[in-house]
Amino acid sequence: MLKKSLLAVAVLGTVAPAMASELTVYSSRATNLLEPIVQKYEQKTGTKVTLINDKAGPLMERLKNEGKNTKADVFITVDGGNLWQAAQMDLLRPIKSRTLEANIPSNFQDAKNRWFGLSVRARTIFYNPSKVNPSQLSTYADLANAKWKDKLCLRTSNNVYNQSLVGTMIQNIGAKKTEQVVKGWVNNLAAAPFSNDTAMLEAIDAGQCDVGIANTYYYGRLLDKKPNLNVKVFFADQNAKGTHVNVSGAGVVKYSDNAAEAQKFIEWLSGSEAQNLFADLNHEYPANPRISPDPKVASWGNFRRDIINVSVAGKNQRQAIMLMKKAGYK
Ligand code: FE
Repeated sequence: MLKKSLLAVAVLGTVAPAMASELTVYSSRATNLLEPIVQKYEQKTGTKVTLINDKAGPLMERLKNEGKNTKADVFITVDGGNLWQAAQMDLLRPIKSRTLEANIPSNFQDAKNRWFGLSVRARTIFYNPSKVNPSQLSTYADLANAKWKDKLCLRTSNNVYNQSLVGTMIQNIGAKKTEQVVKGWVNNLAAAPFSNDTAMLEAIDAGQCDVGIANTYYYGRLLDKKPNLNVKVFFADQNAKGTHVNVSGAGVVKYSDNAAEAQKFIEWLSGSEAQNLFADLNHEYPANPRISPDPKVASWGNFRRDIINVSVAGKNQRQAIMLMKKAGYK
């Protein structure tokens, strides 16, 4: 159903693009990161896009409660853990798209095509180069070694990014070993876990901690503000499975009344016109491997990524939360 009635246009006598349509996007990705992209899409297609922003949890609840009455057509959120959750709650519809299959690697997609990754971030190790020589660094698991006693900083465990990291570790090295690692991390903490990645990176810069784990785009944002930041990135697990990467992504809302247009919008986001805008504004890597990252992001260096499907983060999320709790990780 077209949301803009052509009859209304005729009555008002205004000149509107024929068949103009509307899309409503529920997004937990920051509005300032999406607005320039949405404007470009509106200019190109004449489609009016309404952005509604909230945190992932409340948006998923809202979609569930609105059910068939929802105005939402597209759902955008961050982290495979959240995307998996949305699919689990039956909020998204499977879509068949040659464009998305061609543009987005299979490890960044739902097996039933209910969501597709659009930008990529690494969750990796950061260190203070005045205190740490990168030759001392290797894996996430090594941060549990006693040599990092009172030197490690982490974000709180209630955050989905750490749940996803631990969830994929469970898959890669087993629950038993993961629990030992997380216990080791807790033993090595230099300070109580931080409420966000930025505060933790600032603590590394200040010398409160030597090493920590954060998402790459927070590092990029902080570098914009403080070009002399005394923090460097180290890509973890290069001789193991590769660095943990995660995505922001999108799916078509199950009860969208404009699913074809919603799919077109997501397809456009995955292509050459939009990928750099989508990724670069947040210092992320494009999910489409044919698109190069922003030079600043590229300057952090090439690295081997863990190619595990990001939905594993969702599947193992409960187990990860329980494991972290048991290990005393607050
Ligand atoms: Fe974030």
